[in-house]
Amino acid sequence: MDKPVRVRFAPSPTGYLHIGGARTAIYDWLLARATGGQFILRIEDTDRARLVPDALADIMDSLRWLGLDWDEGPDVGGPCGPYLQSERLHIYQAHAERLVEEGKAYYCFCSEERLAALRAAQQAAKAEIVGYDRRCRDLPAAEAEAALRRGEKAVIRFKMPLTGETTFHDAIRGEITVANRLLDDMVLLKSDGFPTYHLAAVVDDHLMGITHVLRGDEWLPSTPRHILLYAAFGWEPPLFAHLPVFLNPSGGGKLSKRHGATSVREYREKGYLPEALFNFLLLLGWHPPEEREIFTAAEAVAAFSLERVSKTPVAFSPEKLDWFNGVYIRSLTPEELARRCLPFLQRAGLLPDPCPPERFARVVRVAPLLRERIHLLTDAPEQFGIFLEDEIPAPAPELLLGKKLSPEAARAVLERAAVVLAELPSFDEVSLEPALRNIARELGLKDGEVFMLLRVAVSGRTATPGIFETLAAIGRERCLDRINKAREVLG
Ligand code: GLU
Repeated sequence: MDKPVRVRFAPSPTGYLHIGGARTAIYDWLLARATGGQFILRIEDTDRARLVPDALADIMDSLRWLGLDWDEGPDVGGPCGPYLQSERLHIYQAHAERLVEEGKAYYCFCSEERLAALRAAQQAAKAEIVGYDRRCRDLPAAEAEAALRRGEKAVIRFKMPLTGETTFHDAIRGEITVANRLLDDMVLLKSDGFPTYHLAAVVDDHLMGITHVLRGDEWLPSTPRHILLYAAFGWEPPLFAHLPVFLNPSGGGKLSKRHGATSVREYREKGYLPEALFNFLLLLGWHPPEEREIFTAAEAVAAFSLERVSKTPVAFSPEKLDWFNGVYIRSLTPEELARRCLPFLQRAGLLPDPCPPERFARVVRVAPLLRERIHLLTDAPEQFGIFLEDEIPAPAPELLLGKKLSPEAARAVLERAAVVLAELPSFDEVSLEPALRNIARELGLKDGEVFMLLRVAVSGRTATPGIFETLAAIGRERCLDRINKAREVLG
């Protein structure tokens, strides 16, 4: 076993858990579990303007739904807390000031207006290097202190090396080198005392003993800045691993909202199983060592490694996710399928909440018949409806008769079925089959004609599971009621 890792998932609560973030969290969790290390949940809530009130609750809820647990985090605590960055402001402030004292950072008093004008001018001139022009970089210390004493607003900026290059090794991308002159003197601490992402992430990753930083490729441009910050503090950087972005299904461009759901919550609400989404995201960027696609979480822990993560972007295929969902739905026991469908049935008003045991038992009883017909759990109300509702709307006469049957023949079938089904000693598939075939024979009709008429009469539709199982599962009393209603429809 590799050395135990300490990994963190560090979402900003600016929206619901994104599927890209979920994949990062899955890979973090796999590494932690495979090495006997720790998976840490850290909430990067320092961008106050973009906070979404229920995002934190959603992130934790969605991670748990995917089957991920964390060893340290805002809810469970841990030795390196607090795990909400907004509760660590004094730590970032002290670190930023330390860099100022050491001459590695400086106070900048430039106004928003000046910075905006600077940006506009650089854009207009199509400058190669955009960013702060370092006006305050060499302000004498006494002047800066006097300005601070006067209460002038200031940020703390990093003194970026003006020459040289920064090189680091990415576990997935290999060696990456950037010329320092392309990097501007980034802000570390804002004038309201909040840190920027760069400062907070570096300080926390260090103080929390993080050994591996997994994050999306979109953070790659930040990493040279982070490496330079580690050097300024005299710290050893962690190993970085930047995960490939998701492309939209056609492979052209990044996946965006326009191409469908992007939050875990949306997939959950659409009726995907967590096992399916987990397995799908696992393979969206990681190639298993053997030709194989189905992985439980435990199997993924055993098989996963960073070496097999793709360097190049991966196309997101909704069909593949649907395929996984089908595989996992078909693998559920009837009890388990019933349990997964229950909230969807309750939301559709087909069952009360809480659901009495005898009514749940009905769902379990019917579940095996519907397993092949449920692709998403949201299909459950439509599929289970005819088995759970006491009454269904009476079918239209045309539907009952179909293409061939005359009203007289249909009436005769229903009349005969009402008697035969009422008298059947036990109302199950085995007894129903000969009884129905017998009706067809007596009336000189084809078996299929009788079956289809009864199917429509008891379900209101032309497609259901096998007719004998369907009748048995609906139950004698409801079948007789519905057959009688259908007789009234035919007059
Ligand atoms: N807060 C950043 C995000 O929302 C974290 C990036 C990182 O992992 O360093 O993705």
